[in-house]
Amino acid sequence: MARLLEGKPVADKIKEELKRQIGSLKKKPVLASIQAGDNAGSAAYVKSQQKTAQNLGIEYQLHNLNQGINEAELIKFIQKLNSDNTINGIIIQMPLPSQIDYKKISQFIAPEKDAEGMHPANIGKIVFGKANILPCTPAAVMELIKETGVDLYGKEVVVVGHSEIVGKPLSLLLLEKFATVTVCHIGTSKAGKLEEHVRKAEILIVAVGKASLIKGDWIKEGAIVIDVGINRLGDKIVGDVEFEAAEKRAAWITPVPGGVGPLTVTMLMRNLVEAAKLQ
Ligand code: NAD
Repeated sequence: MARLLEGKPVADKIKEELKRQIGSLKKKPVLASIQAGDNAGSAAYVKSQQKTAQNLGIEYQLHNLNQGINEAELIKFIQKLNSDNTINGIIIQMPLPSQIDYKKISQFIAPEKDAEGMHPANIGKIVFGKANILPCTPAAVMELIKETGVDLYGKEVVVVGHSEIVGKPLSLLLLEKFATVTVCHIGTSKAGKLEEHVRKAEILIVAVGKASLIKGDWIKEGAIVIDVGINRLGDKIVGDVEFEAAEKRAAWITPVPGGVGPLTVTMLMRNLVEAAKLQ
């Protein structure tokens, strides 16, 4: 039976360290959060960010912009925050109004204030092993693997999902640790090869968004299974891996909810503290 790899205890440890680092900064770090228009979709995230920030001694500034804002106006607003020396980090809440292209406008955040770690300059630094600001979800996965005490050097790691926010940057972080990385995606499934790759994974990370995509009996005995997926099934939230069957074979497995999720906000705050230190 697998041991549960829960996010909260890991997040708590990192938060203690962050509190110490924040205490030694000259001033309280400030995170500016931009919300545009209808905020029902981002309300829960904002609330959890506010709570975490307050707990750590970070000032959380929420900027509510109107639904009708256009890209030029939003870019101007971001540039104002970029040149404001009192602000250390910026985050843009999703969803944005339909007239706004997130990919386009997020590039206007100064890389040194990019709390989400998604600016092309910060993603590019991962390739060179020089990143100090990391995309939050991949960083959370790396912390969970670290918690198991398993050395990634030479390990067979299979990542299912190759999105820009999870799979792609994560595979670079894993390579940096000398893991042997296989990245699977929809093409792998369509070619009928997903099962064969998953079966060889000593460490399996799944970020797709399809409940039960990964069958429990595909899991290698003794594997570490990190399920990033979030799927709503009626009033239940489940991951992408068949949990009950997988936990019988794995050595470690993340619960969903309660695995990766609780760590991502902490990673956001860690980026902010890194940004404050760099500035
Ligand atoms: P995405 O939609 O951008 O990418 C999905 C990926 O899955 C793609 O690489 C696609 O090729 C692949 N895929 C789709 N169908 C597949 C199939 N049948 N077989 C193999 N691969 C397939 O998704 P995303 O934004 O990376 O999010 C993925 C999941 O992770 C979602 O459930 C999302 O809610 C969750 N997520 C969780 C957190 C967290 O903090 N826990 C953070 C980000 C995303």
